[in-house]
This record gives sequence, C-alpha cells and structure tokens, in this order.
Amino acid sequence: MRDHLAGGYDLVIFDLDGVVFLIDKPIPGAADAVERLRAGSTSIAYATNNASRRAAEVAALLTGMGVSAEPAEVLTSAGASAALLADRLPAGAKVLVVGAEALRAEVRDAGLEPVASAEEEPVAVLQGYGPEVGWRILAEAALAVRAGAVWYATNTDRTLPSPRGPLPGNGSLVAVLRTALDRDPDVVVGKPQPGLFTTAATVAGARRPLSVGDRLDTDIQGAVGAGMDSLLVLTGVSGPADLLAAPEDRRPTYVAADLSGLFRGAGDARVPAPGDTAGGWRVTRDGDRVTLDGSGDPVDALRLLCGVTWDGVAPSAIEPLSSEAGEVLAAWGVRTPG
Ligand SMILES: [Mg+2]
Repeated sequence: MRDHLAGGYDLVIFDLDGVVFLIDKPIPGAADAVERLRAGSTSIAYATNNASRRAAEVAALLTGMGVSAEPAEVLTSAGASAALLADRLPAGAKVLVVGAEALRAEVRDAGLEPVASAEEEPVAVLQGYGPEVGWRILAEAALAVRAGAVWYATNTDRTLPSPRGPLPGNGSLVAVLRTALDRDPDVVVGKPQPGLFTTAATVAGARRPLSVGDRLDTDIQGAVGAGMDSLLVLTGVSGPADLLAAPEDRRPTYVAADLSGLFRGAGDARVPAPGDTAGGWRVTRDGDRVTLDGSGDPVDALRLLCGVTWDGVAPSAIEPLSSEAGEVLAAWGVRTPG
C-alpha cells in the first residue's frame, strides 16, 4: 500500500513526549504505528530535546512501554550537543557542564573533559536540563561565560511535561543565566534548530524523511527549517487554535488526530485542505466573512479553515452555520459557545 501518507517517505522521525508517549504512558496506537512502518521497510528515528537521558536509556524506556527502539535510532539534544562540541573543539578540551549526569557522560564519551568550576578555565559551557541543577553550578557557568567560554544550550524548551502539570524546562534555567549575563546563549542545539532532524536523515541515509511532532514551535519549525515534510499530531501540546494561528515557519505539511493518520491517504491529512469542502464540511468566504457549515471529522474542518486563517482571516471571525460547526469552534476555543 503506497498511497497512504507514510508510504511516500523512507524515514519517519518521531518526537517523543506528546507523540509516542504522554509523560510516562504510551499513547494508544504508537507501538502499532512503529511496527507497521518497520513492516513496510520505513526507517525509524526518535528525536528528543530532553538532554537528561542518554540514547540507550531512551531506547530502554520506549521498549519498556512496548514501543520498539534501538539506541542507534535515538537522537537526543545531549548527544547532538556533545557531537557538535567535539567537532569544534580540540580533543580533551574542558567543558563546564550544567545538567544531568547523562550530559556529562556524553561530553566525556565525545573525547572532551567535563568540569564543574570556572577556575578550570573551560572553553565552553554546555547547559542542559537536570533536576539537580542549582545556584552553585549556574554561578560557575556565569563566571565561565564572562571569562570568554562559548555558551551552548542543548535546547530552550520553557517547560517539561509532568503528571502534575508543566514544570520549568531547560529554557527556564537558561533564562536564569540570560538574566545574569544580559545576553543569549551563543548556540542552541535542539529543536527548533534543524540539526537533530538533518542528523537523523544523514544517519539513516534517507532521501524522503517525514518528521512527526506535537509542537509547532519546536518540532514543526525545526522540520520547516530542515526542509522536511512534517505531520502535526493533536495528542500533545499544540492544538487546533495554535494551528489556525500558525506563522508561516511553523506550518506542517499534514495534520492528524493521532499517529493512525500515517496510514490513511496523504490527501486526507494535507493542510490546508484544497478547495472549499472536506469530509462533510464546507467553508465559504466572502471577503473577511467566513462561514463553516456541515458536520464530520473535526480535523477535516480544521484543515479547511487553515486555508482561510493562514491567508489572514482571524480565527474568531469564522461563523458557524451548523450546530456541529459551532461545537467544533467552541471546543477549539476560537469561539464562545452559543
Ligand atoms: Mg513533544
């Protein structure tokens, strides 16, 4: 079956949280999607901004959830940062590491020397999320950067998902140093920079990669920057209202409710949907007046409406004609019910 969405690609690069699992539980259908891709000879990669686990740990975590994964298929921002530093610095160069033990281990394995004090005169500071990061190491990092060390951040995600709600992510810890130093990091390695995606494609020898993610501001923007097609799944952070309002550099090629969209027709997921009808929905546009009529799969209505909102019409200006249209617009939070 070549006419399904994934059939047009030789590599699928998955984001993890919000796509394959939610915090600590697999998303229903994820394990099955990975197996179906493998059976169809599509390569798999997992790309994560989280720098607190090593590739082998991530692969073990996925396998423990029933999702098959090899360490070589996993790219973390920790591994990518260490590889980048090893590429730019002489072997044995001192790097002040702010982050988890996994990040220190990556730096060590890349042939560099992780240090914890500015007194050691590190040539670079590498900052990634770690639950034990505190004032002391941040102070050493501030001193080292002020003394001329190049400041690298594994990623700048402001939050980390948790069962208790969003918690401060590496972007929030980077903000501490940003405030103290009154400047930005010199290099940010993870998404939305395209590096994780381009590395995944190179490693797999892929010519037609597809990136799958749940966040427009990291996964989708990174894919756009890497020149790759992308699929937004609505199982994580970004929702319909975010997609309707997405700026040009954060617009995916496809949208689907979940990973089962990989195995339906590509035309049924393309965004915006061509024409003025999709599924049971119809959009009419008269200047800035836009109406939505009909009923059916809400994702089809979303694909149609992106055609008008990406063209400059405010989502709040969309008028529902059917009660189903009123319900989906209210559910997305772009219109008050009633
Ligand atoms: Mg995610």
